[in-house]
Amino acid sequence: MLDKIAGKIATHSDEFEGTITFDTDTGLITEVSRKLSGDAKHFSSDCIIFPGFGDIHIHAREDVSGKHSYKEDFLSASNAAIHGGVIHVADMPNNPIPPISDLTYADKLALTNKSPIHITLYAGIGPNTLPLTKQVPYKVFMGPSIGELFFEDNATLEKVIERYRGKDVSFHCEDPEILNANKTQTTHEARRPKEAETIATDFALMLIEKYSLKGKLCHYSTGDGLKKIIEAKKRGVNVTCEVTPTHLMFDMEMLTEENHKWFQMNPPLRGKEDRLAMVQGILDGYIDFLATDHAPHTIEEKMKGISGISQLDTYGLFVTYMILKLGIPVKTIAKICAKNPGEFVNPYLPAKFGFGFGEIKEGYAANFSVLNLKKPFSFQRNMVKSKSGWSPFEGFTFPGSIEATFYLGKEMHAK
Ligand SMILES: [Zn+2]
Repeated sequence: MLDKIAGKIATHSDEFEGTITFDTDTGLITEVSRKLSGDAKHFSSDCIIFPGFGDIHIHAREDVSGKHSYKEDFLSASNAAIHGGVIHVADMPNNPIPPISDLTYADKLALTNKSPIHITLYAGIGPNTLPLTKQVPYKVFMGPSIGELFFEDNATLEKVIERYRGKDVSFHCEDPEILNANKTQTTHEARRPKEAETIATDFALMLIEKYSLKGKLCHYSTGDGLKKIIEAKKRGVNVTCEVTPTHLMFDMEMLTEENHKWFQMNPPLRGKEDRLAMVQGILDGYIDFLATDHAPHTIEEKMKGISGISQLDTYGLFVTYMILKLGIPVKTIAKICAKNPGEFVNPYLPAKFGFGFGEIKEGYAANFSVLNLKKPFSFQRNMVKSKSGWSPFEGFTFPGSIEATFYLGKEMHAK
């Protein structure tokens, strides 16, 4: 059956008023026109229709061991995603039974079948792993963070990366030796200093270039490191980078006795100059993805001091903050929240998704995130759909709200 929506549309390359026709059986877009069709569902001029948002860095916590499913699972994470206007996610591999081989990856993938939205899985790279038979994205933790998949030193890491020549590899950039040298410092932020990221960045960029990787640097947080990424991009190195909402909105100057436990994450919050450098990096077109690094832990665990932030529920709301408070143009939003995340997962998607995610064009999946930029929204703890049950944005009023979320032509509602 054909269905239509109409209104203001923004993609990474275009802004226009028009109508999108899609087939609710195939879930694909059949036509995009620059006319407002009378028989379409119209969104008011307060709203913008974006291609469906994708969050390519989350920790949904579920694996075959089930050990961490009390924190989150694929159903609760999907529900939090839909709540946040997100229609596909990519899940990280630092599980108790990490997906590091054909068998462990297939076992974990089977668990995603119950999800109402698409979940892409990263495979892990650890000291004893080999590439999988099929094409998948990989994640490497350069130093200790959460989980057992990490390296003690760079020499071991390079020996393993050599086996992954030409692959799609995402890096958690924190240098293990610098983390080790600072482990007796008194605050979380001082135990994980900026140099841990900037020095790991040098090493990651070297590996990406030397082994022809398709490289991505996760949850980027330092202005000095971003300069290195920009230089590498200009040299033609195949590297992209992510930034999280928390590193764009908060910095160390905002930490207090009451809130510092909630804001504990890896990498930690940095100074104001780094936060502003990340915003500028988006405006200048050098940051490729808004990705949450949604890392749910229970309230009790957070109070004991564990690293990770719950923020998948607020993805789309945060986008309204980016547009209205940080002055990020809507085309840039469409690029870093939809087009680039789509391009990242499209090589791994099943054929039923047509040309894939991230565009509003004939043949692409009919996924849309519709934001209302005139209707502020106050976010509260009792709204959180993630099993974590908390959010760093509790009590915050976002300047806009999520009007509707469509996945494969169907309007989705968080349960
Ligand atoms: Zn992460």
